[in-house]
Amino acid sequence: MLKNLQLKFISKSLLKSLILMIGLFYILSVNSRNIYAYDDDTHFWLSYYLACKVGYTPKQAMLIASANISVDYGLETNPLFPHTIHPSDVRARLHALPSTKAVKKCRKEAKDRNPELKLQQNKRALEEQVDICIKPMLDEEQSKLWIVALNEGNPGVFLHFFQDRFAHRGFTSRLGHYRAGHLPDFLSNDPDKTRKMVLETIYKLRDFMREHWHLSESALPPEPNIQEIMVVVDKFIERNSSIIKLSPEYYEDWDWDVSDLKYKEIKELRRQLGDSLLRPWKAPDSFVAFRIVFEALLGVPIPKIWAYDLNSDGSLNRQICPRELTNITNEHGISVLVPEGKRKRCGKTSTCECFSISLDLGKSPV
Ligand SMILES: [Zn+2]
Repeated sequence: MLKNLQLKFISKSLLKSLILMIGLFYILSVNSRNIYAYDDDTHFWLSYYLACKVGYTPKQAMLIASANISVDYGLETNPLFPHTIHPSDVRARLHALPSTKAVKKCRKEAKDRNPELKLQQNKRALEEQVDICIKPMLDEEQSKLWIVALNEGNPGVFLHFFQDRFAHRGFTSRLGHYRAGHLPDFLSNDPDKTRKMVLETIYKLRDFMREHWHLSESALPPEPNIQEIMVVVDKFIERNSSIIKLSPEYYEDWDWDVSDLKYKEIKELRRQLGDSLLRPWKAPDSFVAFRIVFEALLGVPIPKIWAYDLNSDGSLNRQICPRELTNITNEHGISVLVPEGKRKRCGKTSTCECFSISLDLGKSPV
């Protein structure tokens, strides 16, 4: 009996150390800023700008953009190493990366239904079928986050998922876009898709006003000037352009986790550019994005950027103080955001000053 118990204990601790070792190997082999998308430029700066343009107050815009970007920095919500035994679920729930298994199943079912789809020349038709099959899953996650948004009084976390849905088209939950490096993070990758994402973000920001504050159509602020906004979006695209350009078709397929062909091409491009395999491409520059917004919103106060800790369902963790995110220049000369200081628990014994525990936007801006 005792021996049995000892054996059980040994095998348990062996298993634990094995898991730890695998985890460590994973950390070392995967660059830590490799599967985010979009990046800080979109999730914070562009979102802040758009919220201001839609008619939110600068403070509300800051809260929305902060909630949005917090998804990428939170302990439980970041796409790379969320504190959970199911990181794939977090990627699916908050970063619009559908389950790899589900995508494979969709592909298999489509081929079983129509064997013609197995032929290489019907690849596009097959991917369309996969897309139709996945859409309800993504829609379901999106609806859940809309409810969280209305409960929290802030659409930021919802917008994170919603924007990632554009950037993550073609990628699935297991690896995210690790093997494509930072490429999908760039708004310059597919300018048409970027403009569509911007337009839809504006509509969602207006929808939120309508639903959260029960505003009628006539009570909403006037529609923003889309032409003026697109001039600013073009600046984001031009000034934060990726070094490598892939054709938009690259992002249309859902087979990034399956086909090696794309990676071979990317590897070759990296080789030509002298980029080693583990070094990621440069991410979009956060300071450049800030300058664009600063110039476009002259006179509007420069926002602080808050990193809130969120629960894995996207709701706010009310136990942890939000921290400020600050710009630093990394080894590639690119400005990126990092959280300042340690995580602090809120409460009587804690000396931390919580800026605002709630994400709630407060009163209607109109
Ligand atoms: Zn994301």
